[in-house]
Amino acid sequence: MIRPLSILRPSSQGLNHLLTDIGKSKRQMSALIVGAGLCGLATAIGLRKVGIRVTVLERSSELREVGAGIQIPPNAANALHQLGVFELIKAVSVQPPAITLRSYTDGSILRSLNLKTCTRTYGYPLLVTHRADLCKILYQKALDDGAEVQFSCDVTEINFQKPSISLSTGESLTADVIVGADGARSVCRERLLGRSVPPKSTGKLVKRICLDMSQLRQDPLLRELVEPHGIHIWLGPLSHIVCYGLQGVFNVVIIQLGHDGTNLDVQEADLDKVRMDFQAWEPRVQRIIELAKSALQWPLLDSFLINPWTSAEGSFALVGDAACTVLPAKSVNPEVFDEVELIPQSVSAQGAAVGFESAFILSELLSRAGSRDNLPELLQAYSEVRWQRASRIRELSHYSLRILEMPDGPEQVERDAQLRGSELRGNPFVWADPAIQSWLWGFDAQNEVDKLWASSQSTNA
Ligand SMILES: Cc1cc2nc3c(=O)[nH]c(=O)nc-3n(C[C@H](O)[C@H](O)[C@H](O)COP(=O)(O)OP(=O)(O)OC[C@H]3O[C@@H](n4cnc5c(N)ncnc54)[C@H](O)[C@@H]3O)c2cc1C
Repeated sequence: MIRPLSILRPSSQGLNHLLTDIGKSKRQMSALIVGAGLCGLATAIGLRKVGIRVTVLERSSELREVGAGIQIPPNAANALHQLGVFELIKAVSVQPPAITLRSYTDGSILRSLNLKTCTRTYGYPLLVTHRADLCKILYQKALDDGAEVQFSCDVTEINFQKPSISLSTGESLTADVIVGADGARSVCRERLLGRSVPPKSTGKLVKRICLDMSQLRQDPLLRELVEPHGIHIWLGPLSHIVCYGLQGVFNVVIIQLGHDGTNLDVQEADLDKVRMDFQAWEPRVQRIIELAKSALQWPLLDSFLINPWTSAEGSFALVGDAACTVLPAKSVNPEVFDEVELIPQSVSAQGAAVGFESAFILSELLSRAGSRDNLPELLQAYSEVRWQRASRIRELSHYSLRILEMPDGPEQVERDAQLRGSELRGNPFVWADPAIQSWLWGFDAQNEVDKLWASSQSTNA
């Protein structure tokens, strides 16, 4: 069962004695960001926006984004708006009118959620966009705003006292603040914990197929999936499939069991095996797989939310997937981890969204640090507020994965009846539940910082 929503609470001590305008401080604050993925780049934009000098260090020799599509829910769109990139992203995105859940056996509709009301309700739509486009826009904006992005920089060590980082070349770089945005297999997180946290697979594989939109438009069986451009999710036993049309590309994500826990890299998938695995699924799924010329696959990693996300010295913070480790529950040391649940944030389409929120909130809080002395408490406040929300979203993701992939049987029959039913409160499709949807999609990162500030003022009054 889903627990009631927790209410965001600020740091008990309050922050108002720390919050001043950075413009008044004697020298410009500097930050090093490890990783030029979606969340590292969003953080670079946020920090530049508040006048912090930014250098992003990326291990790869160029920008890279695995996969094709990404959903940008209204809360992510809001954060991206605050970062000044929403309109640019909207211009290359598609606005799906609905999300439709279907049975894997016959494709019958279990639930359809109207997305056309998102802008009226939350101020922003739910968009789907190409990851490469999103990444390029964030990268260009970061550069335009004055961030420096250095490629082929492999960060190997962090000195939290100094603070400084070391590269594999032996070079050392210093800054006032270091942000670890180096993804699910984060070196930064390992250095923060002071121990090795090797990634572990959930046993599930993500398989990504891209079709040309014209292939679907010309196919009588598939045309209705793209006219109009909805998001379609098929629910099957221990597997589910998500697909939607982007500008020019039809993006298909298959999540199924099948990873043996060894190779964590992106690889070519065996399409014959995919065809075999899904031969009992409805004709449209089979047709999609039949049209595919190739597919990529990679493991869906187990992730754990660590607490705190920051160093005690006030020199370091994690954002994005780096804020979650990837360990099986049995190998978790309870002294290190506050919570040990599975967190496939992909299931709630919120991984990057939470990272964008964090990027903005971290930047806003840092903008109010009058001096380095204030950083420990500000970063602690950042960690507290982000942990509360991220842990709740983890819970929803965990629950959603179970709902989407129920094996055939009485529980699945009951789930289907509830999905089809008229009751929205407590509906197994969590996005349809008005309270959960509003908490998830109605989140306003600026408002959260203002609330934190106002609440700390009244605490100290
Ligand atoms: C199948 C699937 C579907 C998803 N769908 C959605 C969705 O619809 N909506 C959504 O919001 N989220 C979604 N997510 C989650 C989302 O993709 C991630 O949360 C997001 O991409 C994480 O971005 P990041 O910048 O934190 O990490 P990453 O994208 O992993 O970037 C980390 C960067 O750090 C670099 N790096 C790593 N180590 C070092 C080092 N030592 N030194 C320097 N650089 C380093 C890497 O090269 C990389 O460029 C999905 C995830 C999956 C798996």
